[in-house]
Amino acid sequence: MKRLFSKEELKGFHKMLLDHRKALAGDVNHLEDTALRNQKDNAATHDISNFADLGTDYHEQELSIGLIENSEGTLRAIDAALLKIENGTYGYCEGIDDEDAEEEQEPHPIKKNRLKALPWARCCITCQRLMEQSAERL
Ligand SMILES: [Zn+2]
Repeated sequence: MKRLFSKEELKGFHKMLLDHRKALAGDVNHLEDTALRNQKDNAATHDISNFADLGTDYHEQELSIGLIENSEGTLRAIDAALLKIENGTYGYCEGIDDEDAEEEQEPHPIKKNRLKALPWARCCITCQRLMEQSAERL
């Protein structure tokens, strides 16, 4: 498989991925802390005057746990992208253009603009749309 990017370009993507990873990892820890602290606070609260606040606390807790899940999905995608930089397959789409094709297809590249906007993208925009469409049909 031929390399799609120069060393400098790969370095740039590598840095972008690491920066995002760091930011996300920081966010996840912060959110986990908040969620855990809320749980502790709620458990320690027996005072009836605090009952009115519990609703919003629980709501916020669910909200931060949702954010953690989303960030972890992105973290996994970032790790996968970093691995692809290492093994030289970065920039190739993981999707398949034509599901009905009988022969194995050559991997096709993701457009550079898409990677610059979303360095951990696993598929080109065409495959992404195809997947979304088939997900909607289910
Ligand atoms: Zn594709």
